[in-house]
Order: sequence, then C-alpha cells, then structure tokens
Amino acid sequence: RIRANCRMYLQAFRDHFGPGSLPLYASKAASFKQMYRIMAEEGMGVDVVSSGELYTALSAGFPAERIYFHGNCKTDADLAYGVSQGIGFFVADNREELLALEKTAAEANVTQKILLRVTPGIDPHTLQAINTGRIDCQFGVPIETGQAARFVADALSRKNLIVEGFHSHIGSQIFEAEPFCDAVDILLDFAQAMRQAHGFVAETLNLGGGFGVRYLESDPVVDIPGNIRALAQHLRQGCAEKDYPVPKVLLEPGRSIVANAGLTLYRVGGIKTIEGYRSYVTVNGGMTDNPRYALYKAPYTVVPASRMNDVRDLTCTVAGRCCESGDLIQENIQLPEMQRDDLLAVLTTGAYNFTMASNYNRIGRPAVVFVKDGKARVVVKRET
Ligand code: PLP
Repeated sequence: RIRANCRMYLQAFRDHFGPGSLPLYASKAASFKQMYRIMAEEGMGVDVVSSGELYTALSAGFPAERIYFHGNCKTDADLAYGVSQGIGFFVADNREELLALEKTAAEANVTQKILLRVTPGIDPHTLQAINTGRIDCQFGVPIETGQAARFVADALSRKNLIVEGFHSHIGSQIFEAEPFCDAVDILLDFAQAMRQAHGFVAETLNLGGGFGVRYLESDPVVDIPGNIRALAQHLRQGCAEKDYPVPKVLLEPGRSIVANAGLTLYRVGGIKTIEGYRSYVTVNGGMTDNPRYALYKAPYTVVPASRMNDVRDLTCTVAGRCCESGDLIQENIQLPEMQRDDLLAVLTTGAYNFTMASNYNRIGRPAVVFVKDGKARVVVKRET
C-alpha cells in the first residue's frame, strides 16, 4: 500500500508537472529506516524536521540531495549536520535561521540551496490544531504583513545561500484541490512582486503536504491524481496570465502515503461499566502509541478484531493504560461484549502514531510489523 501510494503520486507528477517536480514524503508521518529505504527505491524525495530524522534517512542510504530540512527552530547542530552531509535544501523558516545558516555554510565553504517558508494565510477548514497556513502561526513568515517580502530581500543578500523558491504548507486533511489553488494564487502574486522588486524568479514552488485520508467511512474519498491535475492546470494558467515561467512543483504528502497502510492491534485488559454513566474497554496501549485523540479528538474507526461477527451492541469508550484521564482512543463507539485478551484494531494508524509515541509511565513502544504478500516481518523491534 505504501509503495502503491508513492507510485500514485509519482505517476500524477509525471503526467501533470514539469521536469524536476517531485513528491517528497513528509517523514514525520512515519520515520524509521525501512520507510526511507522504500522512499529511496520508489524515487521519492523526503522532508525531515530534525537531525534525528535526517540521521535515520542517511543511515538507510537515502540520497542526501533529495532531502529537504524543515523546522522552525533548527539548532546550530542541525544546520551543521545538514550542511556537512550535503543535503539538497533547507527550508528556511525565519530570519535568525538565515543568519545562522549563512554562517554555517560560510564556515564549511559551501553555498547552500534553500527555499523560503512563507504563510499565504489560507484556512483550508480543517482541525485548528493541524492547520498551519494561517497568518497567526509559528511556522514561516506571513506574506500579508509584508514580512515575507523583507525575508526574501534578506535571503537574496546572503552570498552563501541560494534561494530557489518558496514553500508553504496550508494544513492537513484537505480533500480538494481548491485550497491548494488558492495558495498558488497568493504565492504567484508574491513571486511576481519579488520578480519586480529584485529580478528574482522562483524556480521551485513547494506546496507542502495535506491531502486527506479516510479515518471514518463517512470521510470523503480523495482523488489525489485528479486534484494534482486540477492544481497543475491552475498553476499553468496563473503563470501564463503573469507571463511567469512555470516553476517546478514539490508536494510533501505524509499522511496520504502511510496512514491507510497501517492499523494498530491492542489487547483488551478490562471492561468496566460505571452504572448510569458509561462503559470503558481498557487496552494495553493508548496515548503512548496514539496521542491524537488526547491532542485533538482525532476520529478513528475501531473494530473488534477477534469478534468481527458478533453483534456490536455495547456503546463504550476505549481507554489507554496511562495514569491520565485524557488517555482515550475513542469515545461512544459500538463494540460487542468484550473479554480480557480480545483484540481491538484501530484502523488508519500508519501516520502520526508510531512517530508521536512516547514512553510516558515508562511504557515501551510497540513493534512495527510490515506485511506484504501474506508475509509479516518486524521492521522496528518492540521496546522491552
Ligand atoms: N509538510 C509540512 C511542512 C508539514 O508541517 C506537514 C505536516 O504537519 C506535512 C508536510 C505533511 O502533512 P500531511 O501528513 O497532512 O500530508
């Protein structure tokens, strides 16, 4: 499924975008060596947000030149590590980073390619917590306030940095092309203004990640190739109107590459009915392997893996095992009468579950098991 999702993006890119355009896997979604090996084999780029992700990508043999380093607080160590490894691009987030990166690049006697992260101020109507393209946010520099224009002028004046273009990420769980097209309009206006002010022509537009996945059966089916076609058409038309050279396009899908390849299996520990209130089913994991319900009430489909044919007449809340009343996996779902040692499956957990896992309460992280052609193998060992 992971490889098929990559191939869907790669094919749509070949069909609709020009040479040099590339989908980058946003590896925060699921980061361990086998993922980067698959991305290398499939010909994807990757985005990383820390030295840890970069180290894992490089140790898996991922080509440095196809790596894009994100983050709004890259440390001096992050910058030095990325520069010394010859990574393709830093996506610069703020002025202080430009100064630090310029210094690091000068010391290493290299010129480093960068993209500039700007915020177009688009609200794609998604969950507030996973919506990062608004003006008031801690990522990137806003266009509307005039700060992005000053950011560009600053970056262009640095002799050890080469500005190749712009980046924006407007949010996640986006099901249509429209919010991306709106972002393109704003970015092209901005690019045009920068051409007029500085004679600078952006070679690359990185439009970030965000295509949605179906956590619930009621979620829409997203036509990613169709959306990419619409986006490419919109971009070409916008460029033609402005007589602007059509840039290379990058997208950074995370969730839509891995989420629907994954599910989490829990073993039931206890079943408890608080009379007059509700029933709880407790499981041997929880917010330590999936904090997304605790963080932003993220919806998931939960099924009784060991009792799929039983009548689901118990309305209940699935609770994790942490000493934290917010440690819930899902509320008000329907399950059959469950017993200790039954298995529950939570679907569509391939993205932002393993990577958000913690050792709170000194609980070990679970194993990651890959399955293909009826064969299973452990790709990350269970912590003991
Ligand atoms: N790119 C950036 C800069 C992000 O912040 C994110 C998610 O937070 C992504 C890409 C991936 O988004 P998604 O997993 O929704 O595709």
